[in-house]
Amino acid sequence: MAIVVKKFGGSSVGNVELIRGIAQRLAKDYRSGDKLVLVVSAMAKTTDKLFDLAYQISPHPSRRELDMLLTAGERISMSLLSLALLEEGIASISFTGSQSGIITDKRHGNARILKVNAFRIHEELARGKVVIVAGFQGVSTSKEITTLGRGGSDTSAVALASYLGAERCEIYTDVAGVFTADPRIVPDAKFIPEIGYQDMLALAYSGSKVMHPRAVEYACKYRVKVEIKSSFSFDNGTIMQAELPGGVLDNKGKGDKMEDRFVSAIAHKDNLMQYRLTANAHAVELLKHWQHEIFKLAQIEGELEIYVESKYAQDIDFYLKQKGCQNFQKNDEMAFVVLVGLGLASDPLFVAQVMELMLPLKLQRICHSERALELMLPRESIPEALKLLHQEIIGDRK
Ligand code: ADP
Ligand code: ASP
Ligand code: MG
Repeated sequence: MAIVVKKFGGSSVGNVELIRGIAQRLAKDYRSGDKLVLVVSAMAKTTDKLFDLAYQISPHPSRRELDMLLTAGERISMSLLSLALLEEGIASISFTGSQSGIITDKRHGNARILKVNAFRIHEELARGKVVIVAGFQGVSTSKEITTLGRGGSDTSAVALASYLGAERCEIYTDVAGVFTADPRIVPDAKFIPEIGYQDMLALAYSGSKVMHPRAVEYACKYRVKVEIKSSFSFDNGTIMQAELPGGVLDNKGKGDKMEDRFVSAIAHKDNLMQYRLTANAHAVELLKHWQHEIFKLAQIEGELEIYVESKYAQDIDFYLKQKGCQNFQKNDEMAFVVLVGLGLASDPLFVAQVMELMLPLKLQRICHSERALELMLPRESIPEALKLLHQEIIGDRK
């Protein structure tokens, strides 16, 4: 019997009715014979609320205590799902990250998984139980509770799938799979049935929330087969796996010429705060002890630019001032749109087309890597930029 890991995101377990619905669908899978390991996120918005509570008490909460607090969110959803499965007549047991044997390094708030000692999971699976694991958390080598960074339950799921030798890892979320742009902003976005690890990695690192970048990295490194699908319908979703040469798996024969570019999807990232510091030895020291996830980092002439999610700004201000850095500048008005695919930057005609489209939207910067063309724009231009680029570049492609 194969082990299957299924992860349910926050909006999928957002209330008791949704949890009950998931338990009923899972009951069918269980009876079909798979050994199920479920990974859950905290119920929708719970982690944000816990985060806010901590900041109401302290402008710079202790990272250890913050981790203790935030991990409580996943404890609630794991036990509720276990209760719902028990009501369906299915034996189940929930475990915290620590009980599941997820061992991490000591970086509170942004810990990396070192290994998984999954013997308790194996024992309970052997007893015929469904095992539910709290996502986003582990225990450090100094026996402290740690978290893996916001959105980190995806990473818990892929890491567990890899360590358990699972047949596949299913990421259940509030959309049907991966689309050519965020379907909540671009209603014409198209469903992508298959996507290669490299394109998914570029999308995730460019801000597409649908899967956490570290989870994609993990899947790519250890060749974990992942399916991203809807927790509301359980219908077939997007399969992520090693790709064929040429980018997205299903683009065979779509271009007119052999070297045609192919835009797989368009990602965006807003809600960012840009910090600008003088790039000197002091900045190097600040980076060495930096605790928050950095979305993007660039040195431009003598200035270091660091982009982080705005929600961390209060904490980062405190950190910078505490370390004697008074003269940093902040700007929360810029955001990014990233075209992901192959052959984008090597074609000046294509870059010109993009620049022309974006000029009225106050394009600030454009730069490329081997798989992405990145545009920096004022935050308010993002919805318009996404719709326009999608319409002109992806359009009616089948
Ligand atoms: P979960 O709570 O399940 O982890 P997330 O909110 O983290 O869910 O990720 C799912 C969201 O990702 C969707 O609701 C959607 O708005 C957003 N998203 C952004 N880009 C894409 C994309 N290219 N394809 C699908 N969803 C996307
Ligand atoms: N609950 C955590 C968060 O909101 C982890 C996750 O959802 O993956 O970031
Ligand atoms: Mg998520």
